[in-house]
Amino acid sequence: LFISFEGGDGVGKTTQIEQLCSLLDEARIACRRTREPGGTELGSQIRKLLLHGGQVSPRAEALLYAADRAHHVATVVRPALARGEVVLTDRYLDSSVAYQGAARALGPQEVRDLSLWATDGLLPDLTILLDADPAVGSARAGARGRRDRLEREPDAFHVALREEFLVLASREPERIKIVDADRPAEEVAADVAGHMERLIAE
Ligand code: C5P
Ligand code: MG
Repeated sequence: LFISFEGGDGVGKTTQIEQLCSLLDEARIACRRTREPGGTELGSQIRKLLLHGGQVSPRAEALLYAADRAHHVATVVRPALARGEVVLTDRYLDSSVAYQGAARALGPQEVRDLSLWATDGLLPDLTILLDADPAVGSARAGARGRRDRLEREPDAFHVALREEFLVLASREPERIKIVDADRPAEEVAADVAGHMERLIAE
């Protein structure tokens, strides 16, 4: 099973992935935690370029995310799935669609197609969309001392992003489950676990 966690900055994706992974461990289900950008060696170089490498034009940015994803899927995600592991990724193609496609206005459909080409069509079995007020997320990300290009984006960027994630969820309600992340982490984790259990029971 392939599961992605999506949402804006600071919504708690990393925390929720850790929680779900320990739950799976307890149930003796092998799980592999990973992330984008930066889930591979090549990917961490790309991540540095993206976040700290100076100016990157929007199309170049979209292609760098796609390159990171292509390599990640080919060398980490598909091999782990082939071994029967549950793969939990911190961000996947919906992030590209929302950030580059919508917030950077490159076109959601084009960016989605690019990503599907990059991954040879791999979509998650389940996507957990952690939905939170952008102001709350920014404060959390800021408290962690985040210093990358995104902290310079105006509020409208983060609002557009959230809206696009919600549009994506409404288009694919079977795959993308919205979880209200403006709540204590334990409550969020309980909802995430519920979605996971339903998926396993299918
Ligand atoms: O996942 P994480 O929050 O560490 O992402 C690193 C940075 O890259 C964040 O600032 C995020 O907003 C940004 N990002 C982006 N476009 C993507 C994925 C992440 O701008 N497709
Ligand atoms: Mg995180």
